[in-house]
Amino acid sequence: MTLEFKRHLPIISDKKLGRNQRCHCGSGKKYKHCCLSKDESERPTEQKELVGKIVKWMYDQKFVVDLMENILNNIFHDRMFEKEAINALIEALIFEGLHKNKRMIDHFILKANLTENEKAVYRRWRDESVFSFFEVLEVKYGKSIKFRDLANNQEYFVYERSGTYQIDPGDIIAQRLLPRDDTWMIAGGLGMVMSDKEHGNIFKKEFSRVIGNMSEHMFVEAHYSRR
Ligand SMILES: [Zn+2]
Repeated sequence: MTLEFKRHLPIISDKKLGRNQRCHCGSGKKYKHCCLSKDESERPTEQKELVGKIVKWMYDQKFVVDLMENILNNIFHDRMFEKEAINALIEALIFEGLHKNKRMIDHFILKANLTENEKAVYRRWRDESVFSFFEVLEVKYGKSIKFRDLANNQEYFVYERSGTYQIDPGDIIAQRLLPRDDTWMIAGGLGMVMSDKEHGNIFKKEFSRVIGNMSEHMFVEAHYSRR
């Protein structure tokens, strides 16, 4: 089995509850027209506000918008893409994107109008957030998820609501986790899920061999030339 991290992640997307599927509450309506926004609104408010602040700042920088357009065109051409794809891209840009040899989140901490407390939280996110492939160990629907980092077996307890309906124990997920007090939270939306057990097992075996190459994929060099 070949894992091509350079071009794309080998994702088998088989979400248990997609946006267009029937809601978990039994109403018969599509999830996106029913409980999705309620579930999402019950994320910790400080997370929503602080993540929102970076995303808004990113969209105010012309070079970021141009860069995102460029990357999306390269990845998707004229195909349709889901909102989640853009969220994942923005998140990768915030934490891994380089512009003028500095990470995007450092530009943000320097230039955005932030209080000292906010700066401390963002620095903690920058220094302690974890991006990896995780195995889902335990799901408490509407409440929490327990992940195991496939790179080092470390376990993470994550408070999450809407995301719990989209994964099952045994799934493998590419995700960034942010520290929150002494637990963890999911950055942005739920990452890419691989639910197929057979491929999941192969992936777990191969993972340690390819982990060295993987980080290379995650770094997006933010080249920008003014037209
Ligand atoms: Zn519902």
